[in-house]
Amino acid sequence: MAQVTVAGKRLFGLTGRWGRRAAGGLLDLLLPPRCLACTAVIDQPGGLCAECWRDMPFLEAPWCARYGTPFAYDIGKDGLSPRAIADPPVFERARAVAHYSGPARDMVMALKFSGRRDLAGPMGCWMARAGREFLDKDSVIVPVPLHRIRLWQRRFNQSADLARAVAGVSGGTYVPELLRRKRRTRQQVGLDAAARRQNVRGAFGVREDLEEFVYGKQVVLVDDVLTTGATVSACTKVLKSAGAAGIDVLTFANADPAGVLS
Ligand SMILES: [Zn+2]
Repeated sequence: MAQVTVAGKRLFGLTGRWGRRAAGGLLDLLLPPRCLACTAVIDQPGGLCAECWRDMPFLEAPWCARYGTPFAYDIGKDGLSPRAIADPPVFERARAVAHYSGPARDMVMALKFSGRRDLAGPMGCWMARAGREFLDKDSVIVPVPLHRIRLWQRRFNQSADLARAVAGVSGGTYVPELLRRKRRTRQQVGLDAAARRQNVRGAFGVREDLEEFVYGKQVVLVDDVLTTGATVSACTKVLKSAGAAGIDVLTFANADPAGVLS
């Protein structure tokens, strides 16, 4: 994985990473491995317990070629859902690992609000698999940014952790600071689709000193959950204005507000 930061430096040196890996190995010997979703004790680290595997709402093809929402029956590789025909997305394709419910929701909440940043690695592995149609070594992998005040409050951007993990598996170029949030927006939770679009209008920009990573490139935009798509659509528009060849969206979960999945 290549990583581009503004100052051109990695946040952690080799020593720090090896140090953490050694410490992690020691902890693995001392503590039993636990299910990523419910923390039940399991045999092998980095997986789910039998119950969470059973309840994990993985999304499987056949699905809508644009929105990635599953079909009850196969209508062909390029089949489109009624929503994709009536309201085509500004991005090319959206793919997600799971429906936003059960253990998938628990994992997103734990990563975002309980500081379980260790979940980003395994979640990113699953995401790389879900996005295999469009991910390759030439992909430019970009997280949806947090506003700097929210980043300061939360101390990390969960989407950036996921994007870094996806790039580590797929071999694309991770450019965490490509997009910036120009103004603070309300939380999208509780807003309807029109209010969500209004809330994020004009909220994002591409850093001018990083525009070379956009022009003519296939960008993979990474977020934790896709709901109405208002946020990733706003990001897609500024990436297109900066000359991106195409934008695909990769999230861990799809909340499917239209209720197609449930
Ligand atoms: Zn479990």
